[in-house]
Amino acid sequence: MINVTKTYLPPFEEYTAVLKRAWDKAWITNNGELVQELEQGLKDYLKVNNLLFCNNGTIVLQMALKALSITKEVITTPFSYVATTNAILWEGCQPIFVDIDPATFCIDADKIEAAITEKTQAILATHVYGIPCDVEKIKTIADKYNLKVIYDGAHAFGCTYKGKSLLSYGDISTCSFHATKIFHTVEGGCIIANNEVVARQLLFFRQFGHIYDDYFSIGINGKNSEMHAAMGLCVLPKMAEIIKKRKDIAEQYNGALGSFLRCLEIPEELEYNYSYYPVVFDSDELLLKAVERLRHHEIYGRRYFYPSLNTLPFVKYQNCPISEDISKRVLCLPLYFELSSEGVKKISDCIISL
Ligand SMILES: *Cc1c(COP(=O)(O)O)cnc(C)c1O
Repeated sequence: MINVTKTYLPPFEEYTAVLKRAWDKAWITNNGELVQELEQGLKDYLKVNNLLFCNNGTIVLQMALKALSITKEVITTPFSYVATTNAILWEGCQPIFVDIDPATFCIDADKIEAAITEKTQAILATHVYGIPCDVEKIKTIADKYNLKVIYDGAHAFGCTYKGKSLLSYGDISTCSFHATKIFHTVEGGCIIANNEVVARQLLFFRQFGHIYDDYFSIGINGKNSEMHAAMGLCVLPKMAEIIKKRKDIAEQYNGALGSFLRCLEIPEELEYNYSYYPVVFDSDELLLKAVERLRHHEIYGRRYFYPSLNTLPFVKYQNCPISEDISKRVLCLPLYFELSSEGVKKISDCIISL
C-alpha cells in the first residue's frame, strides 16, 4: 500500500537517547529542557526571534487571533485546511472568503480590497503547499486599511522566500508540526510573532495566562511536551536531507507526468520545501477516475484541499468559483522520504494511462 504520506521517523535509538534526558530528570512537560532546546533550534533554523513551540497548528491560529484582539471580520482563503476557518469561527469572528489566484492557489490579493468593510480587522491567509501568498501586496493593503496579517504557514516550514523564511512574514505566522507535515513533532506547532509585545502576550496565553503566582491575562493550554520536543530534536537536523529527497521525488514525477496534468509552478525567488505534489485534472470526473484507478493498486492520494471552505455547511455561503473549481479537480499524490522510484513510476503510470 502507498499512502499520500508516511511520517519520517528517526532511528528508534536516536529518539530514545534524546528522550532519556527528560526521563532521567523526570521532567516531561512545562517548558522543559528539550522544549527550550527545540525552540532555540527552530529559531536558528528559521532565523526568527520570537517563536513558541505549541501543541498543534490549530491552537496557534486561535492564539494569533486572540493576541491581535481580532473579534469581527477576518478576510480569509476558501482554499485551505478546515482548521483555518475553524479557528476564525471558534474565536467568534466572521470569515469573509476571498477567492484564490488560479496561478498560486493562494488568496487573490487583487480581490481583497473589495471585501474590506468597516468591520474588517485582519487577513488570515494560507501559503498553500508552501507556495507564498502575495506577501508584498497583502502588506500594502494591510498598512493602508490598518489590518493585521496572520499567515497559516502549516505547509511553509523550510521554505525561504526572498532570502527570509516564509514563516517570518505577517504580524504573526503559524506552523503545524503534525506527523503528516514536512517537519513534525508527532503533534505540535509553532507561532512566530514579529512584535515583542505580541510575543510576550502569546507566551502567557500558552500557559493559562500566568507565570507562577502572577496572573496576567486569560490564557489557554498551548504547551507541548518533552516527548514531542524530543521527536523535533531528532527530525530537525535531517531537514536538508528530507527536502533534498522530496525534491528528487518531485522531479521524478515531473519527468513521468510530463505535461499530462497541471502541476505546481515554483516561483523564482522561492527555495521550496517540496511539501506536496498536487496535480490538477481537467475535470472532477477524471479526478475520480484517477482516485479509483489508484485505489485499485492500493495507492491513496488525498483530495487536498476539498471541499472549498466557503461551501462548508456551517458557514454562510460566499461565492468563490475558482476555489470551488480547483478543489474539485486537485489531488495530492503520495510524496514522502521513503517513496521509491518504482512507486513514483507506478503512480504516474496509473495517471498517464487514464
Ligand atoms: C495541518 C494544517 C493545520 C492544522 O494543524 P494541526 O497541527 O493538525 O492542528 C492548519 N492549517 C493548515 C493549512 C494545515 O495544513
